[in-house]
Amino acid sequence: MPVSSFPPIFDGHNDTILSLTGSGFNPLPGGRSFFERVDNGHIDLPRAQDGGLGGGFFAVFVRPPETEDPAAEGEDARKRLTQRFQRPAEGWPEPMAMDYAQSKSLELLGRLFQIERESNGQCKIIRSASELQHCLDNGIFAILLHFEGTDQLDPDGFALDVFHQAGVQSIGLTHFRKNRYAEGVPMSFPSSPDTGPGLTDEGKELVRQCNARNILVDVSHINEKGFWDVAGITDAPIVATHSNAWEVSNAPRNLTDKQLDAIKESRGVAGLNFHVGFLRPDGEADPSMPLSVMADHLDHMVERMGIDCVALGSDFDGAVMPEGLKDASGLPALMKTLQDRGYDADALEKIANGNWIRVLRETWGR
Ligand SMILES: [Zn+2]
Repeated sequence: MPVSSFPPIFDGHNDTILSLTGSGFNPLPGGRSFFERVDNGHIDLPRAQDGGLGGGFFAVFVRPPETEDPAAEGEDARKRLTQRFQRPAEGWPEPMAMDYAQSKSLELLGRLFQIERESNGQCKIIRSASELQHCLDNGIFAILLHFEGTDQLDPDGFALDVFHQAGVQSIGLTHFRKNRYAEGVPMSFPSSPDTGPGLTDEGKELVRQCNARNILVDVSHINEKGFWDVAGITDAPIVATHSNAWEVSNAPRNLTDKQLDAIKESRGVAGLNFHVGFLRPDGEADPSMPLSVMADHLDHMVERMGIDCVALGSDFDGAVMPEGLKDASGLPALMKTLQDRGYDADALEKIANGNWIRVLRETWGR
C-alpha cells in the first residue's frame, strides 16, 4: 500500500493497549502484537504506517471488573460491554476499588513501556510537544500516555504524582458510569449531555491538582454539569479528546454548541470521534455510513470554533468504525474526504497534527 501523501496524523484517542491484551472492545482471544499486522482491531504499527498515523493518545482504561468475561467473544463481548454503559434504573453501580484500578493501570502502562523498548527506536513515549514534533518529523511513532477514568487516583494526589512522573501527561476524568470524582454520560440516544450531577468536591480538587502539574484534563465522557465545573476551574485550554458535534448527532457523548463555544474561547481542541453511533444522525451503531458524515461534523465544529480548535480522536480499538475506514490504514480516505470538502493543505495539517501540538505545548508548557 502506498505511503499516505497527507500530513502525519496524531490522534486524540485509542484503546489499542487493551485490545493488544486480548481484552476490551473487540479482542482477538489471546491478544496480539503491536508489531504484527492482523485483521483484528484497528491499530498495529504496520497498519499505522500504511495510513499515515504518526501516533496518538493511548488510553489506559480499566474495565469495571464485572464486565470482564473471558468466555465472551466478538459481538457477544461487545454487547455485554456496551450494556454495562447504559445506566440501570437503580442508578450507576459503585466505583471500582482503587487498588484494583491501580494494579490494572500498572500492567497497561508497563505494556506500553514494553512496546517502546521492543520497538528499536520506532516508537517513543512523548512527554513534550517538542518531542511529539520530532517524532512526526522523523517517522517515529509517538505514544502519549493517557488515563481514561480516574479510579486509580487517591484524593491526596500521591498516585497522580507517581503516574505523572512515570509519563502520564493527560487525564480523562471519567469513562461511562461514575467514580469518586465525576460522572460520565450513559450510552443512550437521543439524549442531552445533561444527565447527572457535576464534579464532586474531590473532582474539583483533582482539576486543580492537574493544573498545578500541567497535566491535560480531558472532558470527553463527562456529563454537562461536570463539563461546566471543569470550564469554571481550569486555567488550561479545554480539551475533548474524542467527541463530536451534538447538533449533527444527538448522542450525549457529543458536544453542544455552547460547549463548543467554551472550547473555542479557551483555545482548546475537540477531536473527531469515528464511532458510527456518535456520528450518524440516527445514532445507530451501523457501519454502513459514508465518510461525508464525518466531514459534516467537522464542518459544524469548524463553523463554531474555527480551524484552530478541531482535530481527530478516532477511538480506534474502542468503537465501531465506518465501513470506508475500517482501521488505521484507512485514514487517507478520511483525509481525501476532507480535501474534497474544501479543506486546503494548511487546514488539513492543523486537523492532522498542528492543533494537537499547539494545545499540548500550551497545556504542558514545553
Ligand atoms: Zn472513550
